[in-house]
Amino acid sequence: MAKSAYIHIPFCSHKCDFCDFAAFAGLDDLSQEYCDIVIREIHERLSAEPNHEPLETVFFGGGTPGYIDPDLLGNILEALRSATGIVPDAEITMETTPQTVSEEKAALWLRHGINRISIGVESVSDLELKAMGRDHTREQAFRGLSAAAFGGFDNLALDLMYGLPEQTLESWSRTLDELLALSPKHVSAYGLTIAQNSPLLLRYPKDSDSYPDEESFEQMYYMLVEKCARAGLLQYEIANFAVPGYESRHNMTYWKNQEYLAFGVSAHRYYKGRRSSNFRSLKRYMRDYLGLETVEEIDAETALKEAIFLGLRLRKGIDLEELNRKFGLDLAESRASKIEELSELGLLEKDGSALRLTQKGVLISNSVLSELI
Ligand code: SF4
Repeated sequence: MAKSAYIHIPFCSHKCDFCDFAAFAGLDDLSQEYCDIVIREIHERLSAEPNHEPLETVFFGGGTPGYIDPDLLGNILEALRSATGIVPDAEITMETTPQTVSEEKAALWLRHGINRISIGVESVSDLELKAMGRDHTREQAFRGLSAAAFGGFDNLALDLMYGLPEQTLESWSRTLDELLALSPKHVSAYGLTIAQNSPLLLRYPKDSDSYPDEESFEQMYYMLVEKCARAGLLQYEIANFAVPGYESRHNMTYWKNQEYLAFGVSAHRYYKGRRSSNFRSLKRYMRDYLGLETVEEIDAETALKEAIFLGLRLRKGIDLEELNRKFGLDLAESRASKIEELSELGLLEKDGSALRLTQKGVLISNSVLSELI
């Protein structure tokens, strides 16, 4: 039974040049109608589940959920409370951009039950923010962070990016130092990936020397791990760091390959052995909120592959004995020569019944994982 729910709020003040999410600028007028439809979706999908267990995590992602009226998010939470219940100590996260945060709004979010805020700062260099087509500045980033803290948010998570155009090792080091000095509880930091046809490529083609080279990119990753560790944030997943006890409970659902509900345009769920997603077109979703864009039945073989793929994203890796108990597969035996080969290359390490990526393996995790699987 799913104990987590993801809600997609697609509205943004501006569409960033690299963004490939279902996120739309200039459609704010639709936010009330959209949230009413999400509420209908919640009730209709869950009315068939009278004995659903209360939710332990809720995640408002987007888009920029913090951009819309906080009461609309409150209404969605009310709908979830009445449809499934939400446990009293649930983790309720909302993603937002720094310029949407004010002390007043922070107080409203808290009043509605949102207790974790994840702010997409990305960088504190104006040059890099501009290069990425973000519509906030360094000054707005710091103002937003302090408003969140003064508004009462203790559980503050930061989203950062590296490998950006115009970014250097020095500027990345400054971004990390200045932000870690604010004592966030959680940091997610992803290397930039650029979708095909992204407007960013018109200004900064992939082969442009404005991007950090491969060696600098690697150094940026190692710098991230080291500075976060010094600031007391331990790496628990390839791209995620937390003060112990503040790991994202919601995202752990994904990495542990547990089921979760999802509502809203383009939202992806994993429920009753099936992965499915809602329509990606906003117009289509708002017309047919129960319609599905994709459906995939997860058979035993896929479930096993996913458990390995997702589990190895966690720094503690996968427990081979548990995998064997759950799927009847002795990976240590069936993939013995591949595990040995990847270990000799310094990409994987086996420690008792745990199998995990090394730091070198993390850097090329996708190829290591596809080799192994
Ligand atoms: S704020 Fe986030 S979701 Fe919105 S356009 Fe920019 S990157 Fe995409």
